[in-house]
Amino acid sequence: MICIPIAEATHQEALQAIERCAQTVDAVELRMDVIADGDLAELISAGRRASSRMKIIVTCRRKEESLMAPTGNQANRKKEISKAAKMKLLRQAVVLGADFIDIELAAGEKAIREIQSFRRKQKSLTRMIVSWHDISKTPSLAKLKEVFQACVKTGADLVKIVPYARKTSDNLKVLGLITYAKEQGRDIIAMCMGEEGKISRAMALPWGSALGFAVLPGGKKSAPGQLTVSAMMEFRRQLRSNQHSVQPWFLPPGAPNFVLLGNPVRQSLSPLMHNKALEAMQIDGHYSAFCVGDLAAAMAGIRGMNIRGASVTIPFKKAVMDYLDEIDADAVALGAVNTVVNDRGRLAGYNTDWLGLMQALKNKMSIAGKTFVIIGAGGTARAAAYGIKKESGRPIIVNRTPEKGRALAARFHCPFYPLADIGKIKAHCLINTTSVGMYPQIHRSPVAAEILANYPIVVDVIYNPSKTKLLRDAEAKGCKIVSGLEMFVYQGAAQLKLWTGREAPLQLMKKTVRERLEKLES
Ligand code: NAP
Repeated sequence: MICIPIAEATHQEALQAIERCAQTVDAVELRMDVIADGDLAELISAGRRASSRMKIIVTCRRKEESLMAPTGNQANRKKEISKAAKMKLLRQAVVLGADFIDIELAAGEKAIREIQSFRRKQKSLTRMIVSWHDISKTPSLAKLKEVFQACVKTGADLVKIVPYARKTSDNLKVLGLITYAKEQGRDIIAMCMGEEGKISRAMALPWGSALGFAVLPGGKKSAPGQLTVSAMMEFRRQLRSNQHSVQPWFLPPGAPNFVLLGNPVRQSLSPLMHNKALEAMQIDGHYSAFCVGDLAAAMAGIRGMNIRGASVTIPFKKAVMDYLDEIDADAVALGAVNTVVNDRGRLAGYNTDWLGLMQALKNKMSIAGKTFVIIGAGGTARAAAYGIKKESGRPIIVNRTPEKGRALAARFHCPFYPLADIGKIKAHCLINTTSVGMYPQIHRSPVAAEILANYPIVVDVIYNPSKTKLLRDAEAKGCKIVSGLEMFVYQGAAQLKLWTGREAPLQLMKKTVRERLEKLES
């Protein structure tokens, strides 16, 4: 149900707004704290006349829980309505047969009990919403659950919880709360206020909120971030017709959904690759990139919303390990997780980067007994050294910063050379794991072209561009080359296998990423 708050400044304007809403929406919320000279009896009967099916909610919000200061006629409304007057208004709403009255949890146990017994005495069908708003922040999901339970305890027919989103990940908490309430068999209205909270307003209804709040074009917003009714309907239409075109990454529980957690994530090709694969695998799910500011909240959201799987990228590959219930032995050895599998709230971490690289190598050569020069000493170099050792190959570390290179070499009991000395060594394969040559620095290479004659095979883990300067130089020297695109696709395919238990459509994924890269490069 979509509800329009009637938060006009005057009684006359409120009457007109009710008239405008009646044909479009399912419910109106009469904000009696804002409509300065509002006559409740007249407003309710105007609503009934305008539409017999439209539900009417009556509320009178405290200024502490409203981001909208009373804007009404200041002559009529000099100060906030007293507590006693509010109670009187709510009792009047019961007598007048409003469908719902909304009373804040902060009104206190006594006031809520009083309204309850008044409803009973009246044998009223008016239902009671107990609401809670935080106009400055979104607390943790655990705190939101506590508030929810406190509201339930009052005997509320419906609970409404609306905090203020400071960052995008706050939306995850309220959406997680909806899932929590649903699990308890309870109805809830939940969303975030504020510009950052828009996604939760759009998602609240499809996610299971009993009501979504919107405004008519030109109507008064009763809280920042409210969307127009048409924007909300368009969102729902998109969601039903073609999931893959839906911009926000949240989708209703039921379908297995997947996310990329990183910061930044805008350039990532993972959503394109994974969504194409999911479609081909006929899996009714969606994969979306999510730029994370607060990893703890994002992980709570994954549990709360039962997101089936996550890819984890820079800068969270290490930090994410603190939020997992179990970590696969390879990921522990690497000290990094790039894949999370959520098995009904139990989160397990894996690393598919090294698997992806090994698979890309195996397509070109056997690893056992061969020597591999790895340029770099970061996370990917570690994954390369780990995989090569595991496959009985012999890594050699070469790095710009000697201390880092030596430390990595010591970890894998292998030789180390400073980058300046790379011309002194030869091996079966050279693997670049630095970011030198990555878009936009496409004319750079980590090594001089002359030394490439020392390697029959040259691998670059960079996939944008798909053929780096290093690979172009290597090709010119007659080396076989392996692009980072291969590693990227194989690590993605390994993720899909972990999430779904099924083989991924490798060729399609490769084609999809290659075509996008070619488009970007042209
Ligand atoms: P990282 O942990 O930051 O390590 C980067 C390494 O590159 C460091 O050892 C650093 O050397 C070296 N380096 C950086 N700039 C350099 C320069 N100008 N000259 C010489 N060495 C330089 O990064 P990472 O997580 O390993 O990622 C590295 C690359 O792998 C990125 O381009 C990433 O996109 C790519 N990657 C690709 C895939 C795939 O699927 N294809 C997967 C994961 C990562 P110092 O120690 O001297 O600082």
